[in-house]
Amino acid sequence: RAKNFGRDNCQRFSASMAVRTGDRLSMQEDLRLAVERNELRLFFQPQADLRSGRIFAVEALVRWQHPKKGLLPPGLFIPLAEETGLINEIGKWVIEEACRQNRAWQDEGLPAMAVSVNVSARQFREPYFVNVVRSILLGCGLDPRRLEIEITESMIMQDLTRAVETMRELADLGVTIAIDDFGTGYSSLSALKSFPVSRLKIDRSFIAELPNDESDAAITSAVISMAQKLNLKVIAEGVETIAQAEFLREAGCHDIQGYLVSRPVQAAKIADIIRWPRQSDTRMPPVGFGAE
Ligand code: C2E
Ligand code: MG
Ligand code: MG
Ligand code: MG
Repeated sequence: RAKNFGRDNCQRFSASMAVRTGDRLSMQEDLRLAVERNELRLFFQPQADLRSGRIFAVEALVRWQHPKKGLLPPGLFIPLAEETGLINEIGKWVIEEACRQNRAWQDEGLPAMAVSVNVSARQFREPYFVNVVRSILLGCGLDPRRLEIEITESMIMQDLTRAVETMRELADLGVTIAIDDFGTGYSSLSALKSFPVSRLKIDRSFIAELPNDESDAAITSAVISMAQKLNLKVIAEGVETIAQAEFLREAGCHDIQGYLVSRPVQAAKIADIIRWPRQSDTRMPPVGFGAE
């Protein structure tokens, strides 16, 4: 099939490649400066207990306030950061900022919450990773139990021995570990049982078509009940509708994260959301809460 490509096609192809390569190089340079120019931002998405509506944790999600391109989602720069190794610097900033913010919320008098931080494969493998986490926790005086590290199944399976070692060191610090996007990788629940993991986050692709899609419903229910039997906490990601929340409630999953509770928001907004029940304003409670 390739030999059917004429000369024109080839030229057009390489021209667009050149543009993309140039674009990439400038992105790379911009990203290198982003940390020192203070262009990275953390947004926070609440995680809530369905029964009480209580927000017990928030997930930190990074964005890049690019001087020309506006607010960029992580999908547009984290892969580049991974390839170039910039992820170590960015990832360190993320953990530092998330811990500092969590400590600041506590100092403001908000109820104690955990903050979850996403860690990329390269960052997790970095030899000083656990030391970095330890010194950040000490530096901002945050109780290690108030920090959760999210890793994926593939990060564990890539180098099982090493990953388990790192997980143990984190757990020894008191930091908790969650498996993000659970169900999209190849790990078995029985393998997870032997890891110091405390929580599974069911990937949102299984939640999206609930309650109608029969196989997603079966998979979700099975993961929930097996997780419970293995004494793992379980949270559903990407919960957008009351029908999905109802299904999860009936399947025994009480922790949810998704647009139904809140989109990712800036730190100041988190304080508003959490203080909501104590504020005498006319806003509606978070949708879906209080239905029990
Ligand atoms: P994730 O950790 O699985 O985060 C959840 C993603 O789903 C977030 O996208 C969030 O905005 C989105 N989301 C949350 N609720 C809903 C919902 O109800 N419906 C839908 N359709 N989407 C929802 P975001 O912020 O674009 O992040 C994408 C991914 O980028 C994250 O997936 C995570 O893997 C990665 N990421 C985010 N922040 C960081 C970071 O600081 N470091 C690293 N290494 N990766 C990060
Ligand atoms: Mg995550
Ligand atoms: Mg996820
Ligand atoms: Mg993810």
